[in-house]
Amino acid sequence: MVKIGVLGLQGAVSEHIKAIEKCDATAVVVKHKEELEELDGLILPGGESTTMRKLIDKYDFLDELKHFAALGKPMFGTCAGLILMAKSIVGYDQPHIGVLDVKVERNSFGRQKESFETDLDILGIADKFPAVFIRAPHIVEAGENVEVLAKHEGRIVAAQEGPFLGCSFHPELTDDTRLTEYFVHMVKKSKENA
Ligand code: GLN
Repeated sequence: MVKIGVLGLQGAVSEHIKAIEKCDATAVVVKHKEELEELDGLILPGGESTTMRKLIDKYDFLDELKHFAALGKPMFGTCAGLILMAKSIVGYDQPHIGVLDVKVERNSFGRQKESFETDLDILGIADKFPAVFIRAPHIVEAGENVEVLAKHEGRIVAAQEGPFLGCSFHPELTDDTRLTEYFVHMVKKSKENA
């Protein structure tokens, strides 16, 4: 069975743990950087990216997270997690982990509604996926090797580049595990090929 961690410094951690377990993988809450070594894949949850970044620095996680990505181990960022993974953030000079070749804008659905749910078609993964958006970012630009997986009202809200998957919404907040299942499958394939 593959072992998937959820960065447990802040945000929607336990919901991701439950979703991973439903997909027949072992789920671990990661609170210490040493725990990353034993993992086959990692989920960066939603929450508040600025708070998460402060805690990443406080617990000295940043280099280890970059190292995890450099090993080519799959990473899945949801909402704030997507912001942590993006190579570029509108209004910021520096990215956080900076591994997924996209530019994101924070809180980009804010003016329409603080939070909402909509059915999304996610390319090759799920039709009518119930996507929960909470002060969500969107992807403004995607690099040439990035596959756009879903759009909402013309804005990119899910994308993948090799082992790196990101989405603007919260797949862990509904009972629909199709996106988590897809990530677990990515982790299994990556482990087999390692
Ligand atoms: N608005 C948050 C941020 O910028 C993300 C919100 C979320 O993860 N639900 O970090």
